[in-house]
Amino acid sequence: MKKLHIVSNRLPFSITYDEDKPGLEPSVGGLATGMNSVYKDFNGKWIGWPGIASDTKSPIELKQVEALLAKEGCESVHLTAHEVEEFYEGFCNNTIWPLFHYFPQYVDFHSEFWEAYVAVNRKFADKTLEVLGEGDYVWVHDYQLMLVPEMIKRERPDITIGYFLHIPFPSYEVFRILPWRKELLKGLLGADLIGFHTYDYERHFLSSVRRLFGYEINFNQIHIDDRIILADAFPMGIDYDKFAEAASRIHQTPLKDRSEVHRELEKYFLMDPDRKLILSIDRLDYSKGIPHRLRAFNKFLERHPEYHGKVSLIMLAVPSRNNVIHYQRLKSEVDELVGSINGLYGNINYTPVWYFYRSMPFQNLVEMYSMSDVALITPVRDGMNLVAKEYVASRINQTGVMVLSEMAGVVKEMGEAVVINPNDENETERAILQALEMPGEEQVKRMTAMQKRLKRYDVFKWAKDFVGALQRVNRLQKDFLAKKITDKISEELVGRYKKAKKRAIFLDYDGTLKGFKDNPQEVQPDAELEHLIEELTSIEQNVVTIISGRDKETLGRWFEGKQVNLICEHGVWLKRLGGDWEMLANASNSWMPMIRPVLDSYVDRTPGSFLEEKNYSLVWHFRGAEAELGELRAKELRDELTGLVANHNLEIMEGNKVVEVKTGGINKGAAANNFLMNMDADFIMAMGDDWTDEFLFRELPDTAVTIKVGIKHTSASYKLETVEAVRKFLKQLA
Ligand code: UDP
Repeated sequence: MKKLHIVSNRLPFSITYDEDKPGLEPSVGGLATGMNSVYKDFNGKWIGWPGIASDTKSPIELKQVEALLAKEGCESVHLTAHEVEEFYEGFCNNTIWPLFHYFPQYVDFHSEFWEAYVAVNRKFADKTLEVLGEGDYVWVHDYQLMLVPEMIKRERPDITIGYFLHIPFPSYEVFRILPWRKELLKGLLGADLIGFHTYDYERHFLSSVRRLFGYEINFNQIHIDDRIILADAFPMGIDYDKFAEAASRIHQTPLKDRSEVHRELEKYFLMDPDRKLILSIDRLDYSKGIPHRLRAFNKFLERHPEYHGKVSLIMLAVPSRNNVIHYQRLKSEVDELVGSINGLYGNINYTPVWYFYRSMPFQNLVEMYSMSDVALITPVRDGMNLVAKEYVASRINQTGVMVLSEMAGVVKEMGEAVVINPNDENETERAILQALEMPGEEQVKRMTAMQKRLKRYDVFKWAKDFVGALQRVNRLQKDFLAKKITDKISEELVGRYKKAKKRAIFLDYDGTLKGFKDNPQEVQPDAELEHLIEELTSIEQNVVTIISGRDKETLGRWFEGKQVNLICEHGVWLKRLGGDWEMLANASNSWMPMIRPVLDSYVDRTPGSFLEEKNYSLVWHFRGAEAELGELRAKELRDELTGLVANHNLEIMEGNKVVEVKTGGINKGAAANNFLMNMDADFIMAMGDDWTDEFLFRELPDTAVTIKVGIKHTSASYKLETVEAVRKFLKQLA
């Protein structure tokens, strides 16, 4: 049976020690909860770091820990203290983290950190490779392991790999800052499915792939050689019922049995039942916008004295990465802000900000969620923000208001929140007032809508959805490859070819016999290709025709003296072996003066693009233009031309990075059939790469061997992925 294995930086257990005896403490985080169901259902392993530096333990102690974890289906990757420092604290938290959260000024560009990142990713990949069975699935998690997918794929192409990024993927303009940007992307592209929390992150990722590698991207599918890679958005959920049920239990617990935190909170409300509580919970991280939040709350108190004594902010800041200077500075800033607000507005009976610098157990968190009238969640950048979801799940009476930053991934699922830009402290201040004064009915309406959504798409549904998509991408790839010419099919085709007495062979040029270049003039036949054509045409039974969209002058020059027939400009012209150019279709070019200025304006506005003029068509090439701009302009151009071409019997053809306008009714299929008349061929073969060749594939007799170059959808009966594969196949025929 195929298994599914999980790979993440940390294993879902921490190691505890009772005297010298190690034990395991399960993690309660979202990822552990979601993945537990997955890897056990699929009988796989969980590969990760146990969280202790391996050089602080003896080999025997490490073996003990390994054995304990193995019982739980976990495989340990051991990291030394030095590796943890350079890989985890270094490259992960001081390079990727700040950059991906739009803090380029905090990024460390140390090549030792990068080298450690590569080496540690290698360790994770090697450990994973040890456990893989044939055709298994692997799901790799997060920014610590971006190179692992490619490392696995290179050695085991049979494995279907999923990858999920739990933090934002930044805009290309930010991502490109990184010296190792190409390496990171290449690492990710080893995966078959790449998941993000939101469509925006997916969009940024695809844009970086397009700009850095120029790969063909079709909606959310990336095509590389014979692979298809899918990118998609899967907003991670929480264990909704766990929070809702805990909140409900808390409501039913008598006062005397409640926790100390809970009793303190009750006391606050006992002084005045109209008092309100605003909640703020995060790790103390610069991405969370904690100072922004405090300044906005300060403004609120400054502008609304009527709320003095009536509203407090309860702020839990969980210590995080406190050996890093930026985090230490943040801590000082937060301490100062809290001190200043409490000094200004507090008194014996009133503390404006209750500040806890520590973590709290689950029970206390839910108590805080349940007791707070408003959740104030204002990160300046956050991949998702699970605290927002947990607050909503804990509001069992459906009251409570969420004030939420538009920079948090979670905002996409919380349209009912009061949404703010965290950098606009005036707006946040107004949002606090709006939240405090929101009528109960309105609160219930909004909260109910959010609860419905989050309950449905919880962490289990999220995990199931991702795994489902991973299985589907596997099928999609198989379908695409179904038409691929394997060694066996190749043998059969060569057999048929050999038996035939007269063979008509149609070969498209660009993208089939020769790869693309930015300038189409630079792709004349190379020595290898010339030799191949000579060999093919020297066989008496073969009638070889180059069938191309190119103009007759260029092709005529390139193939002068060669034993080939030429069909040019998509079928306007034919030059039989030894003969002169003849016109196959009645074409006119009187329309050109009208269309040319339109195309010229696109050349002017799209740097890197240019116009090619053929006898009966005009071609706008945008391969050399910035990829996204080129696609956008091509779409604009199509729209603009649509009205014009209808009146003049013209056609718009979209080739590979070109838009071509030509006289209507002419195509390669009609031209090839015309050529075949009275020929009596008992073997017909056609090869081509773009959709102008689809006419050829469709219109040739059913017995013809039609071969699409590339992996796009086609009506051809077979596929070869690349120009190299085409040449290899033709060599067998020669
Ligand atoms: N959390 C916790 N103890 C605390 C404070 C927070 O376990 O004292 C949990 C909280 O319930 C949430 C997670 O930490 O599940 C924080 O996730 P989030 O996505 O909000 O932020 P991150 O820290 O991952 O950036």
